Parts: sequence; C-alpha cells; structure tokens
Amino acid sequence: MMLIREMRTVEMQAFFSCFLLCIALDVCLSATPTPPTGKTWRIAVVGAGIGGSGYVHFLTEHEKKSGGGQTSIEVFEQADVPCGRVTTVKVGNDLYEEGGSILHPSNQYMRNYTEILGLKRITDDVSDGPFGIFDGVNWDYRQTGSSLWDTITLFLRYGFEPLKLNWLVDNMLNSFKSIYNIQNEGKAFTSPRDMLAAMGGQEFVQLPQMTLADYLLSKGFSLTFINELAAGAARVNYGQNTTMGGFAGLVSLAGSQSGLWSVLGGNNQVCYGLLKRSGVRVNYNSRVSRIRRISSPGKTVYELTIGNATRQFDIVILASPIEKANITFVDFPVTPKPNGIFQQTIATFVEGSLNRSYFHLDGISASEFPTDVLTTEGTFFNSIGKESSVNNTLPSIPVYKVFSRDALQASQYESLFNDSRVMTSKVWLAYPHYNPPHVIPSFVLDDQVFYVNAIEWVASAMEMISISARNAALLTAGVLHNVSPFDAPPTEPTMESKRDEL
Ligand SMILES: Cc1cc2nc3c(=O)[nH]c(=O)nc-3n(C[C@H](O)[C@H](O)[C@H](O)COP(=O)(O)OP(=O)(O)OC[C@H]3O[C@@H](n4cnc5c(N)ncnc54)[C@H](O)[C@@H]3O)c2cc1C
Repeated sequence: MMLIREMRTVEMQAFFSCFLLCIALDVCLSATPTPPTGKTWRIAVVGAGIGGSGYVHFLTEHEKKSGGGQTSIEVFEQADVPCGRVTTVKVGNDLYEEGGSILHPSNQYMRNYTEILGLKRITDDVSDGPFGIFDGVNWDYRQTGSSLWDTITLFLRYGFEPLKLNWLVDNMLNSFKSIYNIQNEGKAFTSPRDMLAAMGGQEFVQLPQMTLADYLLSKGFSLTFINELAAGAARVNYGQNTTMGGFAGLVSLAGSQSGLWSVLGGNNQVCYGLLKRSGVRVNYNSRVSRIRRISSPGKTVYELTIGNATRQFDIVILASPIEKANITFVDFPVTPKPNGIFQQTIATFVEGSLNRSYFHLDGISASEFPTDVLTTEGTFFNSIGKESSVNNTLPSIPVYKVFSRDALQASQYESLFNDSRVMTSKVWLAYPHYNPPHVIPSFVLDDQVFYVNAIEWVASAMEMISISARNAALLTAGVLHNVSPFDAPPTEPTMESKRDEL
C-alpha cells in the first residue's frame, strides 16, 4: 500500500512537471516550423556515442529516401574519439571491451548496423564457461561445466524458475519487438511512457515504476531466486540490487539468455562506421557547455557555446545524459535538469588467476572453475568475469574484469587473486541509479530540441539508445517535413491528451 501511495505521489509530480512542459510545447508545436534562409535545416548533435551516431545514421537514411538535401548535420563530441561508454582498453597485447560489451540476439538495430557496416559478430565467446553465484563467503549455486549435472543442480536449487524466467523474458521481448514495426511506419513518441504503452500496454508502462523484486514476486518467483539469480544479474549488468526498476531489471535478466554477441574488433566500430558512412561533419574535442534558446515570432533557433565559439542551429539533438553532459540551458520555457544520479561502476582489469582458497574451490579442475562469478548483495565486488579480447582470443595469462561500486583495496585484490596485477581501472558513471518509482524525462526538451537519453531512465542499453535515436530522427523528420509523427495510440490519457482536454 505504501508503495502504491508513493507511486501516486510521484506520478502526480511527474504529471505536473510534464504538464508545465506541455504548456510550453503547446506554443511551440502549434507554431508551423519555418526553415531558415536557404531552406537548409542546421542540426547539431551533442555527443557521438551509440545514440548520436545512430541518430545521424537514421536521419540521413530517412532524408535519402524522402528526397533529402535540406539538412546540414554537425556532431559535437567532447572526447577525441567517438562512442562514449562503448570503448576498448588495452591490457597486455590485446584490446578488451571496457564499457558496453554484450548484445542480445533480439537487438535488431545493433545487428543491422553490423550488417550495413560489414562488421563481423562474435557469437561463441571463447571465454564462456560455467558460472556461479557467490555470497561473499559461500557459493549459493555453482555450475561445473557438465551440462547434465548443471541442469540437475539448477533444478534442485531453483526448480522451474529459470525456465519460467526465460518464458517471461521471451514474452517481454515479443512485445518489445513491436517497436521496430512502429518505427518503420514512421511513428514517433514525445515520451518514453507513450513508447512503452505502444509496445507493451500498461504492463510496460508500470515496469520501470516498480522494483525488479516486486515485479518478480508478483509473477510468483521465490525470494531465493530473486536474491540470488536476479540479484546476480542486476549487479553484473547495472551495479544495482533488485530494488532497481523492473524494466531495466528484466533487460539485465535477458543477459542470462543464450546467443549473446559482440562486434569482432570492438563494439565501438559501430560508431566510427555509422559516422563515416553518414558523411556528416564530426567535431572532436568540442564540448558544448551552453544551449540558449533564441525565439522571435515564427522562428526559434538555438545558440550552442562550443569552447569559446557560439554557433546557431535550428534543431538540437542531445545525445548524452543531462546528468553527465554539464550543459547550461538558457531561456528554455522549462529548463532541462538532471533526473537523478548515475550509478558508479568501476571496471578493473586484472591479470592473474583466481584464488581458489578464497572461493573454497581447492582441488577442482580448471574447466570446472566458474568463468563468471556473480554475487549477491553485500559482497564487496559486483562480479568477476574471465575475458576474451575483442578479437575473441584468450591471452596466455588470464585476464579478468572485476566490477565494483567502490574502488577496491590492494588487500581485496590479493584475497581474490593469486599473483595478480591490476592492469587498468576505469571509474564509470555508468547508467542511471534506478530508484522506482521515478519520473521518466520527455524526449522533447523544447519544440526543436530532442533528447535521446531520456530512454535511459527506462533502461540503459545500446539497443534502447538506438531505438531512442531513431525516435529522435523521426521527430526531426516531422519538423523538417512539417508532418506530425505523434500518432501512436497511447493506452491511457497521456500528457498530450490531458493537455487537449484542458
Ligand atoms: C561499464 C558499462 C557496461 C555496460 N554494459 C552494457 C552491455 O553489456 N550491453 C549494453 O547494451 N549496454 C551496456 N552499457 C550501457 C551502454 O553502454 C549505454 O547505454 C550506451 O552506450 C549509451 O550510449 P549513448 O550514446 O547514449 O551515451 P554515451 O556513450 O555516454 O555517449 C555520449 C557522448 O556524448 C559526449 N558528451 C557528453 N557531454 C558532452 C558535451 N557537453 N559536449 C559534447 N559531447 C559531450 C560523451 O563524451 C560521449 O561520447 C554499459 C555501460 C557501461 C558504462
């Protein structure tokens, strides 16, 4: 009851803040957009990650099909390379995925990108082996590599729950896939909430607003399953507990399915490839520090401050989380602001071998040793995974990736590993810290400012961002061609329809 009451309060707050935004948008969206002199729309994309490069790809493809020729797109990226949270790191002689690494077989856009760009996919990771769930002292569950024995022990520990989970995730993915047809039909959404409603109705709308634990309990899962398998997945994929949002939680559990893949040579090749293929101008080392809205009758432009220079654009795509972009918004009717905090996840690469005594695994053969150690809440690290390089090779000395919320002490590494060397460590503000129920920001920050990373508050993943990038491209196309793409049927009164009623 308490949870429901809190959800209502937050929904009211969400409605009120969106309502204010909609009042602002009402003015903007009802005004007919006018192309500037020369009829070329100047579009700025802030951020060259999967989101920014995906946006550029979708918009340029869309414009090619619809005649095009009326846009001038520029990307501004503060780093000297593209792809942001999808990056590789050198350990020894090889490169390893340091950020976004795993893709699901149902990730259509990411797969399409590899096909368009002629990139190969790794589907049989040579580092794959048995996994276990460690509670900091003992193993709650541990595979041995023998598929019959592992199936029996999985059943003895969790009964039919892993099968039930597989079924639940498949069902979710079946609804989720409808977004591809919706987007192929040219429909766009102003809010993630409406997008979720169009994909999976009320269940999808409610999922990010309840905890993963509550959702799984409502589906009849046991506390043992939730506190072990579900917690292990939430911790390795999002550095969080089962108190995280249900939607992102299910995305993390989809990572337990088979057929996962990555891009041979590194996932970041997708960004390089898409940007190059689109032929747009990409400005590296170009941080956008300020966006000022300049409005005159019938025309709104946006002045971007990049370094010491200012430039004006007709459409701005924000393809980085506001929480991390550090941009000052000036003269916006509703000032975009951070929606919450981002979860710190530290990715540390260690060369060496796991300390068998610490894990109570003295005497077992190397092939029986878990290559993926998941953990339950309370353990000082989130996960340890044996790594293969981006070229799907194993190094002569094993390399492990340790995820933790806080920096680990030398003594902690010494307890986990024998003869280990910490090779490199990266502190990520990795993904939103999901603390449901929470507000999900709008895709529309102003009449011609679209926000790709709003979707991260549903779930942060490369495919989610790609879907949002296409949505931003469709919103842009709506502005360019003066058509309304907002025709997807919502299942409940949305902010738009509530506004209309008033
Ligand atoms: C450790 C880790 C593991 C992950 N694992 C997975 C996984 O296995 N599978 C999966 O699907 N997802 C995973 N993710 C999530 C996934 O990486 C992200 O959801 C996705 O990469 C976000 O892409 P983006 O383009 O929206 O944002 P980003 O990659 O953050 O790109 C934003 C870009 O904008 C630039 N920028 C920021 N501010 C400014 C500014 N003011 N001016 C100019 N440029 C700016 C940044 O430098 C950056 O390049 C993981 C993330 C992390 C950190």
